[in-house]
Amino acid sequence: MSWINPDFPKTATPTSLVGRVLGLNPGLMTGPGTNTYLVGRRDPILIDTGAGVPEYLPLFEQYLAERGWRQPSRIILTHRHRDHLGGVEQLRSRFKGLPVAKMIHRDTALPEAVADVRDGEVIEGDGVTLRAVYTPGHASDHLCYYLREEKALFTGDVILGGSTTVIPAEDGDLGEYLASLRRLQGLDVERIYPAHGPVIDNAPAKIREYIDHRMERERQILAALADGLDTIPAMVARIYVDVPKSLHPVAAQSVESHLKKLVKDGRVRELTHQDAPSRWALIG
Ligand SMILES: [Zn+2]
Repeated sequence: MSWINPDFPKTATPTSLVGRVLGLNPGLMTGPGTNTYLVGRRDPILIDTGAGVPEYLPLFEQYLAERGWRQPSRIILTHRHRDHLGGVEQLRSRFKGLPVAKMIHRDTALPEAVADVRDGEVIEGDGVTLRAVYTPGHASDHLCYYLREEKALFTGDVILGGSTTVIPAEDGDLGEYLASLRRLQGLDVERIYPAHGPVIDNAPAKIREYIDHRMERERQILAALADGLDTIPAMVARIYVDVPKSLHPVAAQSVESHLKKLVKDGRVRELTHQDAPSRWALIG
């Protein structure tokens, strides 16, 4: 099954406390589209808003009507990426005065009047208790939300259903990302509601798989460096030989994130040359 699955259900009700409406923004980076979650018995809290696709609002309202709900009580966001907060204005113009909150951190252009959420903060809804868990790495402002009543975690883009997450060269940090995964390992989590793709029922196994995947990638990069491959394209060509060329730019970002982490770890150095791509070398 492809990551961009056109048959992925547009709405779902995984449990009595959690409903899901798809953002209708499928793509290479978003898979079937962004999952937006409605959490609570009544007056649900909405986690993430999709990208602001016009067809989302009627779908959202149809789902509210099916559940006998009038509107969400508030919006909380996992992070600032467009496919998560892009629907804020659309929802606010439909539901006047809807409060919106996220962790405010290195934000330059947020919609108006967004409130701040800090690590550990508890957000109470109707029959639900959500706790914010700071998980930087994919984005420096990223929060997961832990749903106590289900021992479930809304992971945003930290863990996805059906793909690995991208660590953007700009605002991402692979070292922080691995620390965030280890932090999630310390929580009592059974189920994961990812921002893209299907629900994950064995949370501890999935978190371990994500950590193992990154460690394996790091070993491959160290081996490539030891064999004298010293540019990112050369490493991508070897390590991602089975991956379609159209995905190589994304793979290059991932390799760069690993190299930057290895530089921070003191195991690799970057040799910069004017007007030429960096070359990379093992230390010692
Ligand atoms: Zn993201």
